[in-house]
Amino acid sequence: MSSARVCTRCVMDTSASDITFDLDGRCWYCTELIQRLARSHWPSAESREAARRDLLAAVARDGRGKEYDCIVGVSGGVDSSWVLVDAVRAGLRPLAVHMDNGWDSELAQSNIASLVRGLDVDLYTYVIDWDEYRSLMLAFFDADVIDIELLYDNALAAVNFQQARAYGLHYILSGQNLATEGMLIPRQWNWLKMDRRNIEAIRRAYDGGGLKSFPAIGSLSYAWHMAVRGIRWIPYPDYLEYERSTVLNTLTSEFGYRPYRNKHYESVFTRLYMSYILPVKFDVDMRRVDYSNLIVSGQMTREEALSRLAEPAYGTDQDLAVDIEYFRKKIGWSEADWRAYLARPPVPHRAFASEFSTYHLLQWLRHRIPRRFAGH
Ligand SMILES: [Zn+2]
Repeated sequence: MSSARVCTRCVMDTSASDITFDLDGRCWYCTELIQRLARSHWPSAESREAARRDLLAAVARDGRGKEYDCIVGVSGGVDSSWVLVDAVRAGLRPLAVHMDNGWDSELAQSNIASLVRGLDVDLYTYVIDWDEYRSLMLAFFDADVIDIELLYDNALAAVNFQQARAYGLHYILSGQNLATEGMLIPRQWNWLKMDRRNIEAIRRAYDGGGLKSFPAIGSLSYAWHMAVRGIRWIPYPDYLEYERSTVLNTLTSEFGYRPYRNKHYESVFTRLYMSYILPVKFDVDMRRVDYSNLIVSGQMTREEALSRLAEPAYGTDQDLAVDIEYFRKKIGWSEADWRAYLARPPVPHRAFASEFSTYHLLQWLRHRIPRRFAGH
C-alpha cells in the first residue's frame, strides 16, 4: 500500500476507490463531513440544549400512559451506555434493548448488566438462534462478500422496531453520533444495512434454506416504520456535549463499567472482523474512517492517527491468535478452512439479488418528503 495517496487533512486514502482530492490534497470524505456538520449542527450550546429539552419533552409526552417512553439500544459500548444514563437522568423511562448474536464478549455482558442494575431499567435481550446465525455467517463467508456485520446490523434494527411497535413507542434513541461516526463509509467497504433480499439471496445460494426466526428487515418495512408509523431513530449523542474520556470516567466510577481496549471490542467477532478479516482479505482498514472522524471533530491529530495506523489494528499477536482460535472453534472451521477463506478474492454484494434499486428509489423519495421521513 506504499503507493496509496493519503488526504492531507484526514487519513482517508486511495484504498477507498472512489476518493477524490481537491487542489490542496484534501479529500471528498472529510470535506463532505465538514459541510454536513456545518449544516446540521446547532450554532451554539444553548440552541443544542434547547433542542435536547424539546426532544425529551416530546419523548415523555409520547410515553404518557405507556409502560416505557422510548427504546434505547445498548451494545455495551461507551456511546450507547451513555445514552441510557443520560436518558434516565433526564427523567425518561426507557426500555433498554440488546441483541445477542452469540459473539458478545463477557465484558460487554457484564457492562450491560451493571448499567441496567445501576439505573434500575428494564432490559430486553433478543437472543438470535445460534444455529441459524451460524449458517447465515457461513453463507456470507462462502459468498466472500465484505459486509458480514450486515447480519447483526440488520437484525438489530428489526428488533428495535419490533419492540417500539410492541409498546406503541415512537422514539428509538441510538448511540450513533455524527461528531464521532458521521463520515460516510466508502460504498465498497460495506453494504446497505436494510437489505433483507441480499441476506436471503446469499443464504439461498449457499445453503439452500430460507430465513426462519432471524429477524431481518427490508428497505420497504424500514421506510414504513419511519414514514407511516412515525418512528424516529434519534442519534442522541448529537444532542449532548460529548467528551468521550469524561463520559468513560463517569461510567467507570458510578456504574462499575470496565472499558474495552479498543473500539468494537464489545463483540469477539466484530473485533476480529474489523482488525483482521477486513484488512487482510478485503484490504480495508476501518480505522481510517474512525480516526478521520476524530480528526474532523478535533479529538485526534492527523499525526497521531498516522502513527496508530502504522501499527496492526489488532492488539498483540497472541491476542489475535486467541481470537482466531475462538472464532474457528465456534464457527466449526479447520485451520485450512480459515486460510482458504482469507485467500479467496472478494465478491461484491451486487453479485446477489439486492434491494439496491429500491433503496435508491426511497432515497429519491426521501428528498421529496424530507420532514417526516428523515430523522432529525
Ligand atoms: Zn480527507
